[in-house]
Amino acid sequence: MGNAATRREAARARNELIRAKAAVCAGPAAGAPRFVADVMLGRLAKWLRIAGFDVLYSNRFSDDELVRISRLQDRVLLSRDTRLLVRREVKNFIFLESQDPLTQFRHVIESTGLSALPALLTRCLSCNRILVPTEREKVRDAIPPFVYSTHARYKSCPGCGKIFWAGTHRDAAVRTLRDLLGGIADIRA
Ligand SMILES: [Zn+2]
Repeated sequence: MGNAATRREAARARNELIRAKAAVCAGPAAGAPRFVADVMLGRLAKWLRIAGFDVLYSNRFSDDELVRISRLQDRVLLSRDTRLLVRREVKNFIFLESQDPLTQFRHVIESTGLSALPALLTRCLSCNRILVPTEREKVRDAIPPFVYSTHARYKSCPGCGKIFWAGTHRDAAVRTLRDLLGGIADIRA
């Protein structure tokens, strides 16, 4: 019991330290910030990509890699890991206390001070590359016939080759983000 109490106390102390550090380090960035997300934040990374943010994410990034990428590429480090965030070389970060991806998303948007999301569904959700418009004929063999017959516009990923089209997923994503962000940021969709 003594150990558990000590661990809780240490965790509480780290949380306080990180909040104090965040208050000093934070500040609205000019333009849309770029991010690197820790291994626990895969779903948050996906939501940020849906919104158009440039987010590096891999479930294989080590703590050292996260810190190095954040520093070298000027990316805001997103993390729930207080042991990582207390490290002295970590300066540009957002501490996510919630475990819920959408609550995390809202916290990120509030922390950046942005008044609008970058550009919805312009980025590959799997690999983060910017999607390029692609002719319908070129994707014909790669998509279900129903989709081909009902959608005119397509985009594809130059990195992994995935094909995207505006459909019910897009409508659902827009609705979710609107409900979530009502009042704090515009959604251009
Ligand atoms: Zn891709």
